[in-house]
Amino acid sequence: MSAATSLTHLLLGTNMGNRCGYLQFAQEMIQQNIGTICRYSPVYETSPWGYTQQADFLNQALVVQTHCSPEQLLTLLQEIETKAGRQRLMHWGPRTLDIDIIAIENKVICSERLQVPHPALAQRRFVLQPLAEIAPEWQHPLSRLTYRQMLASCRDNTIVKKYDCPLIFDCKRI
Ligand code: AMP
Repeated sequence: MSAATSLTHLLLGTNMGNRCGYLQFAQEMIQQNIGTICRYSPVYETSPWGYTQQADFLNQALVVQTHCSPEQLLTLLQEIETKAGRQRLMHWGPRTLDIDIIAIENKVICSERLQVPHPALAQRRFVLQPLAEIAPEWQHPLSRLTYRQMLASCRDNTIVKKYDCPLIFDCKRI
C-alpha cells in the first residue's frame, strides 16, 4: 500500500446462488480489505453476455477510494472472488462473483495481468449503465468519452433493468 489514494471504478457481477448475498459479501469484503466505498449504483439485472445459455446476472458498480496499487487491487479482488466460491470453469461462464476493475482515475495500464481501463467497457451496456449513474462525467483517458457519452452511443441491445435487492449495502452502517 502507498500513502496516496486513488478512486477506482469496480463492477460486481453474479449469476449463481444467492445473487444479492454475493453482492453484499463483495461490498463488505471491499470495505474491510480494500478501501472506502464512496458511491454505489443501483443493482441491475442483465441478460448474459458471450455465453447466453446461463442465468441472468446481477451487476452493480462501485466507486472505491483505495491505497492499493493496481496490482495489489487485482490480487485482493481475486481473493474475494475465491472466498465467494468462484470457480473458473469456462470463459464467460456462470459465476458466484466476478469483480472487474473498470477504471482507476485516468491511469492507462496494459500489463499481462491487467488492462485498465477495462478494454471492453464501451461495448457493454451492463458496465456503462451503472457507471453512468454514479460517475457520468468520468472521461476515458484514451477516447476522452465520458460514461454518459459511451452509453448514448452503445449498440449493445442486452436487457439491463433495475433490480430490487432485499439486502442492500448502506455506507452509513459501516
Ligand atoms: P474474469 O474471467 O473476468 O474474472 O477475468 C479474469 C482475468 O482477467 C484475470 O486473469 C485478470 O488478470 C485479467 N484482467 C485483465 N484486466 C482486468 C481488469 N481490468 N479487471 C479484472 N481482471 C482483469
